[in-house]
Amino acid sequence: MANNLGLAVKPVTETPEAEIKRVAEWINTEEYKEKNFARTSLVINPAHACQPLGAELAAHGFEGTLPFVHGSQGCTSYFRSTFNRHFREPAPAASSSMTEDGAVFGGQNNLHEGLENAYTIYKPKMIAVFTSCMPEIIGDDLTAFIKNAKQKECVPADFPTPYANTPSFNGCHIHGYDAMLLSILQTLTTGKQVEGRCTGKLNLIAGFDANTGNYREYKRILEAFGIPYTFLADISETFDSPLDGHYKIYPGGTKLDDAADSINGKATLALGTYSTAKTFTWIKDNYSGKHVSMPVPFGIAKTDALLMKISELFGKPVPESLKAERGRAIDLMTDAHQYIHGKKFAVYGDPDYLLGYVSFLLEMGARPHHIMCSKGTKKLEKELQALLDASMYGKDCNIYMNKDLWHMRSLVVTDPVDAMIGDSHGKFAARDAKIPLFRFGFPIFDRVNLHRVPLIGYQGTINMLSTICNKFIDITDETCDNRHFELMR
Ligand code: SF4
Repeated sequence: MANNLGLAVKPVTETPEAEIKRVAEWINTEEYKEKNFARTSLVINPAHACQPLGAELAAHGFEGTLPFVHGSQGCTSYFRSTFNRHFREPAPAASSSMTEDGAVFGGQNNLHEGLENAYTIYKPKMIAVFTSCMPEIIGDDLTAFIKNAKQKECVPADFPTPYANTPSFNGCHIHGYDAMLLSILQTLTTGKQVEGRCTGKLNLIAGFDANTGNYREYKRILEAFGIPYTFLADISETFDSPLDGHYKIYPGGTKLDDAADSINGKATLALGTYSTAKTFTWIKDNYSGKHVSMPVPFGIAKTDALLMKISELFGKPVPESLKAERGRAIDLMTDAHQYIHGKKFAVYGDPDYLLGYVSFLLEMGARPHHIMCSKGTKKLEKELQALLDASMYGKDCNIYMNKDLWHMRSLVVTDPVDAMIGDSHGKFAARDAKIPLFRFGFPIFDRVNLHRVPLIGYQGTINMLSTICNKFIDITDETCDNRHFELMR
């Protein structure tokens, strides 16, 4: 064996070809699946990211906001590179760059120096601070540290510095998103509630959603209704700004004044009941107007429910243009059902997206045969089971809570399905099972432009259905014999 300089390298160990072949076959067996599912202390390829990554996404959704990671640089690079690779856009964020001395003596000095530099150099309108594992493990007190930073004038006393504790050994990216969004709203709305004032607007919260097409779709729906709105944590421009030759460090985001005034809104709609749970609980107790929490609108039934709720909240009928769009989606479902009906799927991802995949598939008469969440709860399991029980296509489908994509690999090789739905991390299992992977989740590292293709609403239903059915038709064309290679499909 030679290295890339052509020099001979002696391997530390050598595995005979026959042994490699034997193990490769063994990991596809029921016997191995049993051992894999008996695993308790090791996670392999989980379908979730850590809390601070979600906090960073929420911070990017506000005008002029610099996400600031209190913790180590490596974690910060991981969050930024994940967003870079998914959106293929820059994701500027600062770090207090804690190293060994910070771990021993506490990270206050790092935080103060970092805040002062970030404020002076990057001139943000707000700095949103959140933590990585290291300061959480040593017990850094963010409340005291930020108070001290203002006393030392590292940043002005009235400069908005929301902060959230986002320990990664607890929860995942959706919980970090929720915690950061809550802190941002609490900070910006303090003292802004005005007795008797109503902005007349809908506050819309999309939850942890890294599909910029979805944000544009929500806006299009509200504009069709003619309803004024404030989108809370709007990343649609931040991660989808036009290439015009000029770099902008803070493109887009919800205007801070609008976010502050959102406390006087006519109504607040939080989508994604799992990634907005804490924020919604606080909003219910503190915001004016009506408050509603609903699932992410995947498929027809969930989109119908959203439009009916918006109509009810604002006393406006569902616009004809959206009714026509619904009709087109139903027409496609009728045209396409023969290609997807009865097909089995393995689905994995965030709770809010999973609930969406499952209801969309059941609406099409497809079977979400393996359903996996790597950070799930009993409540989610019950909700998924209720969806399965309500449809004849949910029979014999199985839910796997707190399992990972190595478990999923065992499932799809021993109990085959026709396709997988999830994020790019599932591609290894999909390849081993020789089935397509539909990349609808987060992150998507290995395809271009998918974050711009909406999945929510009637248009999202059309997009998902077209992608899935056309792929199945491609497979038929690619694998059939000459006699069955037909012009019509
Ligand atoms: S799990 Fe902890 S150490 Fe790892 S990247 Fe996330 S914050 Fe950093």
